[in-house]
Amino acid sequence: MKYISTRGKAPALTFEDTMLTGLASDGGLYVPEVMPKMTKDEIAALRGLSYEEAAFRVMRPFVGDTFTDEEFKAIIARAYAGFGHAARAPLVQLDSNHFLLELFHGPTLAFKDFAMQLIGQLFQAALKRRGERVTIVGATSGDTGSAAIEAFKGLDNVDVYILYPHGRVSEVQRRQMTTPSEANVHALAVDGDFDDCQAALKDMFADADFRTGVKLAAVNSINWARVLAQVVYYFTSAVSLGAPDRKVSFTVPTGNFGDIFAGYVAKQMGLPIDRLVVATNQNDILHRCLSGQGYHKGPTHPSISPSMDIQVSSNFERALFDAYGRDAAAVAQLMDELKQGGFDVSQGAMEALRESFDSGRVSEAETSETITETLKASAELICPHTAVGVKVANDQRVPEVPMITLSTAHPAKFPAAVEAATGIHPPLPPAMADLYERPERVTRISRELAVLKDHIRGQIPA
Ligand SMILES: *Cc1c(COP(=O)(O)O)cnc(C)c1O
Repeated sequence: MKYISTRGKAPALTFEDTMLTGLASDGGLYVPEVMPKMTKDEIAALRGLSYEEAAFRVMRPFVGDTFTDEEFKAIIARAYAGFGHAARAPLVQLDSNHFLLELFHGPTLAFKDFAMQLIGQLFQAALKRRGERVTIVGATSGDTGSAAIEAFKGLDNVDVYILYPHGRVSEVQRRQMTTPSEANVHALAVDGDFDDCQAALKDMFADADFRTGVKLAAVNSINWARVLAQVVYYFTSAVSLGAPDRKVSFTVPTGNFGDIFAGYVAKQMGLPIDRLVVATNQNDILHRCLSGQGYHKGPTHPSISPSMDIQVSSNFERALFDAYGRDAAAVAQLMDELKQGGFDVSQGAMEALRESFDSGRVSEAETSETITETLKASAELICPHTAVGVKVANDQRVPEVPMITLSTAHPAKFPAAVEAATGIHPPLPPAMADLYERPERVTRISRELAVLKDHIRGQIPA
């Protein structure tokens, strides 16, 4: 099993090296050279299995020789042991043929725990064997950072620096990043927005001296292992609603296109998915693009669903790579144009994208209304990101095909928006009840690349 870069100029790598490298050295993203397939019988055989066993069967072909079956099973078991629900990703019914896939039962209450808890264990196992230590730098709009700090805190072979936009994450998100006391995790509050944080991260990777000097690794949603972890719950949820004998559709609250791209991978592997619906908030570059208006950056507008306040959706490059018939030179050209502000998608590529993806955009008022309406209609308290998904799903679903909307965070992670819409202050689960009493530790820092690099270099243990 080999992985190749979407820009065609980086070496093909094994699963282990792809995971430890993150972003390819040519600036591209790694994708499997050949997509593994599951037969109808193999998919049907997932019915009734534990989440961990299903995860093993779905992910095994991607891992190649990196781990033995026993090692990989142990990694998966450790990754999901801390989840607060036996099903890990339970489905609840919202309406006839409309289901919520609850992805917020992990330690930081958002779906990113699925990928990050797994990647923490994968890194630990691989680095221990190699006798190496790496520096993980991540950029976050809130949930990635808390999930990463939670997954890597206290691990022996990893230092973690998380860049988040100062003042633009929720208080729960911030406290989840700033309260862990383990010395190997560091929260950096950057004066800028999420796109500034993400751009700084990309530039650090582009600097070969810095990259090798600190042994830089990335666990942002560009990391293939993260996408892979998220493929699993598309299978488990579809199978519990009748796949592979019945098609299902998914609506996914989308920012960086990582979660929905995992659904696309599941489809490529053979899971019968009818539609994959991209739901955006007012930061709607993906909706505009999928509506045929090209991919052109605008300013980021802060919203009540801040984990989706993104203008450049990194993982979209992977979808473009396939839509352009895996033409790496064409993708490299588009990404050059993006640096100047944007690009138009060719007609052939648009048709390819539309074969799998639909999209919708939700305003701030609609998001809030959907939280209110969903509580009234179904007695479910949902977070604002999930509300963006529910609104688009309600607009676009067809009665014959079950729609699964991904519920990406627990309402208590975004209490202000939920309380404004419903009058209910959603309580934190008991394990986190003292979050507001724990002392915080954070460095406020400029978005200047040189300042960020010096800070990270200066703190690496000798
Ligand atoms: C990260 C995040 C999203 C967006 O997921 P992408 O993979 O970036 O598209 C949606 N909702 C929540 C709660 C998130 O944390």
